[in-house]
Amino acid sequence: MQIHTVPVTPFMQNCRIVVCEKTNDAAIVDPGGDTHKLIAKLNRLNITPSTIWLTHGHLDHVGAADELAREFNIDIIGPHADEQFWFDALPQQAQMFGFAPRPAFLPTRWLTPGEVLTLGELNFEVRLCPGHTPGHVILVEHQNKIVLVGDVIFKGSIGRTDFPKGDGPTLIASIHREVLSLADDYSILSGHGEDTTVGHERQTNPFVSGKFG
Ligand SMILES: [Zn+2]
Ligand SMILES: [Zn+2]
Repeated sequence: MQIHTVPVTPFMQNCRIVVCEKTNDAAIVDPGGDTHKLIAKLNRLNITPSTIWLTHGHLDHVGAADELAREFNIDIIGPHADEQFWFDALPQQAQMFGFAPRPAFLPTRWLTPGEVLTLGELNFEVRLCPGHTPGHVILVEHQNKIVLVGDVIFKGSIGRTDFPKGDGPTLIASIHREVLSLADDYSILSGHGEDTTVGHERQTNPFVSGKFG
């Protein structure tokens, strides 16, 4: 497995290009914007993406998904259906975040927890992690021990819960149930900031370690 990280939008959102090296299948995870930058990166890598996966409906994670889907004639998969109001509100999100005006779109299909997304010989387990947003999903690849967590947890921090339908206790519960239940040596790939590990966050993240407040 190869993972290429491309920070997009003024929010420096980590778009990930995930590649199965055995079959050359590639997924674009959370293409939040900067469509031309992403296409240039794919061209440089000589990669033709086969799918787009979304963790949640915030504009900095989905903003380029519709353009890339059209460009490569591929599907947009996820997140969970509880996220639809964020997709319906994409024009308002653009206004709220100070992005260029844009139309709404919906993914090709929603994801359900427990489902497995295959990419060549890689398998990603879908886990539902509400709290930052209600239909936020994370994607776990057990063979390579990585988890794509979007805005659920960051190195030393957790996702904001002050958006509509956000909820702090729900987010903490999601993190314990779906992220910290993984072994310490799983890598956490977050939507913003540096990569970390389950063990590091279990030990040091002040929001979940129980060592503070
Ligand atoms: Zn978000
Ligand atoms: Zn974000």
